[in-house]
Amino acid sequence: MGLRIFMILILLFGWAHEASSAGAILVDTDMTGNPVLWKDGIVHYSLESGEEARLGTLSNLEAAQLVRDLFDQWVNTSMNGVKVTNLQAIEGAGLGSVDVSNMNEHFSYCPPGDVCPGEESPFIVGGARKGVTPILFDNDGSMTDAVHGVGASRSILGFAGPRVVDRVDGVLTIIEGQAILNGRFIDGIKSNGDPEVSIDAFKGAIFHELGHLIGLDHTQVNLASANKYLQGDTSEKEAIPTMFPIFIDGEAQLTPHFDDKVAIASLYPSKDFSDGFCSLKGVVLQQDTVGLQGVNVVAKDLEDPLMQSTSFVSGAYYKGSSKDCKAHEGNFILKGLIPGRTYTLAIEAISSAFAGGSSIEPCDPPQKGFESKTLPGSFSCSSGAQVIETGTESTTTIVTTKKVSTSSSGSSSDGASGCSLIP
Ligand SMILES: [Zn+2]
Repeated sequence: MGLRIFMILILLFGWAHEASSAGAILVDTDMTGNPVLWKDGIVHYSLESGEEARLGTLSNLEAAQLVRDLFDQWVNTSMNGVKVTNLQAIEGAGLGSVDVSNMNEHFSYCPPGDVCPGEESPFIVGGARKGVTPILFDNDGSMTDAVHGVGASRSILGFAGPRVVDRVDGVLTIIEGQAILNGRFIDGIKSNGDPEVSIDAFKGAIFHELGHLIGLDHTQVNLASANKYLQGDTSEKEAIPTMFPIFIDGEAQLTPHFDDKVAIASLYPSKDFSDGFCSLKGVVLQQDTVGLQGVNVVAKDLEDPLMQSTSFVSGAYYKGSSKDCKAHEGNFILKGLIPGRTYTLAIEAISSAFAGGSSIEPCDPPQKGFESKTLPGSFSCSSGAQVIETGTESTTTIVTTKKVSTSSSGSSSDGASGCSLIP
């Protein structure tokens, strides 16, 4: 799974569970089971250039500066006053103007209705291209329609992801990515068939897409807050993470949540992150025996559970096949925990609304058939770099005396029936 789309949501019902996660968009399931990252934490990208390459009401220069600023925002992620990432974004030569007539020279995709060769389009293993990561400004939505079908540009703000990976000295790394940003959302025209968002909200969408380009997966932290928002209660909008699968409030999502920061720092950690924060690791087991994949394990600060929460999907980093989400891999690791703070631990299902381009690794559709619950007790660490393991006596307050387990509920506890998206 690679190319993620960011949709505006028109109708949603049946969200059953609050859950969250923070992981990688690509995992090396062939050899290492590790996240696939940009080599040395350096993202190389190229922008559309020239006066013609506008983005809605933004000039080319304005659009380009906006992308640079948002890369900087990821690069300079800080927690507790220290920079937590070891990441760079380096801009290459401009691409010139790109539109539907020449996008094939820059963008890799399988048009709707076509059957395309290759195992998992648009990936090409190896350095088949030129090492260029294009970020295209879709001025009027026509490129978005070409990739996702006519009318898609009314609901998709952008899409991005890695597209070429290569194995060097045994390590799979991202060589190229690609992105299209849909300027139809900021073209100054608002009607039934042409939605409009503020520039700041659009920035939130680009920030999200750049997160994918860098290697971040979606996250489901504070699903309940997003659900409240959609029902008209915006009081918890700041709790909605940037990498939430759906565009809820772009202006709020322009500010990364604790979970977003932990996610990016976990993939590209600075020394300050590795030394200053601690981790909790464990295994989600089904009936105390077999590892269970696809369960959101959530750590929440006891005093600020909405803003200071982070999680990890069990078995997200695995080797082999996860067909039907039955890889029997239940490992999780929650990083970025702050020494001295007290956390609770919960296990939750991922909403069945999140499938396909909105899915969260490693299961699509999500794992189900278990009960969401908060485990008894709490935990905390005393100093940075400490790794607490659930099921050991070394923790200050033990979450559970066993490894984290789910009990089989007999019937599916997942009542989510899906959502309707436009188109
Ligand atoms: Zn996304």
